[in-house]
Amino acid sequence: NTFQQLGLEAELLQAITDLGFETPSEVQEKSIPILLEQEKDLVALAQTGTGKTAAFGFPMLQKIDIDSRTTQGLILSPTRELCMQITNEIKLYGKYCKGLNVVAIYGGASITDQARDVKKGAQIIVATPGRMKDMISRRLVDISKIEYAVLDEADEMLNMGFYEDITSILSHTPEDKNTWLFSATMPKEVSTIAKKFMRNPIEITV
Ligand code: AMP
Repeated sequence: NTFQQLGLEAELLQAITDLGFETPSEVQEKSIPILLEQEKDLVALAQTGTGKTAAFGFPMLQKIDIDSRTTQGLILSPTRELCMQITNEIKLYGKYCKGLNVVAIYGGASITDQARDVKKGAQIIVATPGRMKDMISRRLVDISKIEYAVLDEADEMLNMGFYEDITSILSHTPEDKNTWLFSATMPKEVSTIAKKFMRNPIEITV
């Protein structure tokens, strides 16, 4: 299988060529066609290092409206390091998507700077739950028009005690968004989140 056969458009295929990715990984092969073709929720059991950032990143980049500056995609991840890493990857994947603005929101850095970056118009926000909740409550960020929400490393986020923050953040997003949950393991807490916030998710395992 090739990335082209998965249904990705030219701007993304060009970036993939630049990155030297030759074939889609298993999680990409299983997720990308589903996320591109269907407005559906997804639960994916996948470890780090399997290429899962691209598995949700490419479909999100293809689906959002780059000409709009509204925040349409939200990716929640457990740590500042992961948050920065995902942001950098999405920027690389979207390097030919002209006008794309991806902003990282995490604790331990200036909230003023992050708020300024958001205000310029970010189609995609990658955030840690604590800082995200903080910025929502200070009305520094608007996620009321999100169409795609990713819970990355959901098991880790719940292990770290982010259940309340995640619940609070999702309560500020539209009911009819698509939620894509990625987790290395499926403990009870993760299925609880899935049951509570997702509608008949498609499940894949790699
Ligand atoms: P992740 O699991 O998203 O952290 O990705 C792990 C690493 O694999 C990252 O450095 C990606 O850039 C790289 N990667 C993702 N997809 C592919 C692919 N299809 N072929 C080669 N490398 C990839």
